[in-house]
Amino acid sequence: MPGLIRALERALTADRVFGDAAGRTAYEFDASLAHGRPRAVVLPESAAEVCRVVGVAREFDLPVVPRGAGTGLSGGAIPSQGGIVVAFTRMDRILDVDRRDRRALVEPGVVNDHLTTAAAKHGLYYAPDPSSQRICTLGGNVAENSGGAHCLAHGTTTNYVLGLEVALAGSELVWLGSDAGDAAGYDLRGAMVGSEGTLGIVTKIALRLRRAPEAVRTLLAAFTGVRAAGEAVTEIIAAGILPVALELVDGMTARAVEEALHAGFPPDAGAVLLVEIEGVEDGLDAEMERIEAICAGSATTTRRAETESERAALWRGRKGARTVLGNLRPDYYVHDAVVPRSRLPDALEAIEVVAAKHQMLVATYLHAGDGNLHPNVLFDAADPAEFERAMQAGSEILHFCLDLGGVLSGEHGIGLEKRGYMDAVLAPADQAAMRSVGAAFDPQDRLNPGKIFADPPGG
Ligand SMILES: Cc1cc2nc3c(=O)[nH]c(=O)nc-3n(C[C@H](O)[C@H](O)[C@H](O)COP(=O)(O)OP(=O)(O)OC[C@H]3O[C@@H](n4cnc5c(N)ncnc54)[C@H](O)[C@@H]3O)c2cc1C
Repeated sequence: MPGLIRALERALTADRVFGDAAGRTAYEFDASLAHGRPRAVVLPESAAEVCRVVGVAREFDLPVVPRGAGTGLSGGAIPSQGGIVVAFTRMDRILDVDRRDRRALVEPGVVNDHLTTAAAKHGLYYAPDPSSQRICTLGGNVAENSGGAHCLAHGTTTNYVLGLEVALAGSELVWLGSDAGDAAGYDLRGAMVGSEGTLGIVTKIALRLRRAPEAVRTLLAAFTGVRAAGEAVTEIIAAGILPVALELVDGMTARAVEEALHAGFPPDAGAVLLVEIEGVEDGLDAEMERIEAICAGSATTTRRAETESERAALWRGRKGARTVLGNLRPDYYVHDAVVPRSRLPDALEAIEVVAAKHQMLVATYLHAGDGNLHPNVLFDAADPAEFERAMQAGSEILHFCLDLGGVLSGEHGIGLEKRGYMDAVLAPADQAAMRSVGAAFDPQDRLNPGKIFADPPGG
């Protein structure tokens, strides 16, 4: 496309525009199975530059695809229709950490964990903690409304976004929401969170921070199988206890974690549950004793983390679970369904049945307290028959979860990978209402087109 690269170089500087094949290759992929080649990649350093890039996209009638770290699991950052990828690597400044108001102002390319590191000197931290927190960006977290192990009690990204600066499809720069936590008029901040880059491009984020808790207790409980562990989860919540984290990994995952990371997971367990509670020191041990008593009914072992390094090792194991699965098979197809918590044992057993039927390895870990399951169908994409079986097994697992009253995605977003399932969960009128919101923000469907909704409707 003659003139495109020159126009982008004028909008930024030449060293931050990639038009050659080598420069674009790295932006063809994210952590999903999808891929697509952009026409150009740009690395803006300011909101004004982002607005100018959107202007160039209008001039050349091209899509614009925002991109953080490319750790998305649903293909959200894939330029599936070509166009310009706007990568936020260079907009990674923490502009302010305000101790008194417990808020931070950041650029979208800030890595999630870097904010917690910066806030720690003030006794504060940023609560949503995706397992990818050491690499994923806060812009990506906002776009996906990301969750994490500690979101059960504290809430997901949307509960922490106070305000957003956003570049719209017409290149206008707007502020949505407010530092005070409430704003006049429609809650467009809320609409933007989880919109997967389809309504606007986030250029600044005002975030709520939390005070670090006075005390924490962490428990590992091992079970013979996933049903018993799932039932313990239901019992803990039914007893009126709300841990900050209630995470479950199946036996296959526990073994893979232990072999690779030596986290302290019993390698012979059929399932491992991690339970964490926090608060003031007083009363915390009594609460943990209640949890231990519930688990003791069916657990083969329970063990408290006695030191901070033991606790850190357990979390390193849980958060490293997806990565170590690469040691079992080269590829994975991960799902993200949420089922009512009381149906977790049924869902977990059904996953094992589907895995056996298709002779596939399926390793599952879950934010059990939220009912948010991540079954990873493991396969080798070099074998076309195995790839087909993996897709079929994944689809059956997902439909089973939906039949249990579940939803498609707890935190990974719909993106490209799950858009084909939207008809199964939303009526045509519901989808039409959502599409009309998209059309109001972006009438020419320029911002991250082809994501969330199958195109054409029903297709
Ligand atoms: C090992 C591993 C573990 C993971 N664990 C979790 C987990 O525990 N919880 C969880 O929720 N997710 C998890 N994820 C998924 C992923 O890390 C999150 O979805 C994360 O928020 C993506 O951030 P990113 O910076 O990589 O965004 P990308 O993948 O680059 O983009 C994701 C989406 O955000 C949009 N986007 C990016 N920046 C902007 C912006 N500035 N403005 C508008 N839109 C933008 C993109 O267009 C795309 O639609 C995990 C992924 C991996 C690989």
